[in-house]
Amino acid sequence: MDDLLDGYRRFRSGRFPEQQANFLRLARDGQAPGAIIIACCDSRVDPQMIFDAGPGDLFIIRNVANLVPPYARNKDYHGTSAALEFGVAVLEVPQIIVMGHGRCGGVRALLASDGEDVGDFIGPWMNIADAVRRRHPRQSDGSVDAATLTAAELDVIRVSLANLMTFPFVRDRVKAGTLKLHGCSFDVGLGHLLVLDPKTGEFIQAEDDGAAA
Ligand SMILES: [Zn+2]
Repeated sequence: MDDLLDGYRRFRSGRFPEQQANFLRLARDGQAPGAIIIACCDSRVDPQMIFDAGPGDLFIIRNVANLVPPYARNKDYHGTSAALEFGVAVLEVPQIIVMGHGRCGGVRALLASDGEDVGDFIGPWMNIADAVRRRHPRQSDGSVDAATLTAAELDVIRVSLANLMTFPFVRDRVKAGTLKLHGCSFDVGLGHLLVLDPKTGEFIQAEDDGAAA
């Protein structure tokens, strides 16, 4: 905790005063984020950093493997669905970006397991992407090669985008043209962002100015 408090003190003396007017405006007017980002919990994949965004810009929902469950109304505890409902139906955020990433431990667990056998909660959660496991089988010796893992990571993004459309409050807005859905994937090692082309269904590397030497 001491490391975190050191960081907090740097924030209070540095970035907070730089952003104070912005924070005061957000406190006064409330939030109106420009995008909902559904990303993985993975500590290497911070949407606010990757998109160079500031306070109030992004409504970020993070869970294991950036999964969106299918719409289900029951007494279960639907954390991701509740956050989605708040962002879409209450805040009326105009776009949702599902952001996957390379070397995802959740997707690797999905491919390496048969379903319910990973932890108390991870296995059942990853079963949202059961179809991905079937489409990208592991090797006969039980291993998962890099190409299969990458293809499965991208496929998980497609599953989440399809499941988003099972939510009536998402589907209605997409059909009305007031909500747009996008997919992308971040390469942890290279820093590249792949963006899903809705016309072809393929992921294309986003243009950038390259990394500084
Ligand atoms: Zn992940």
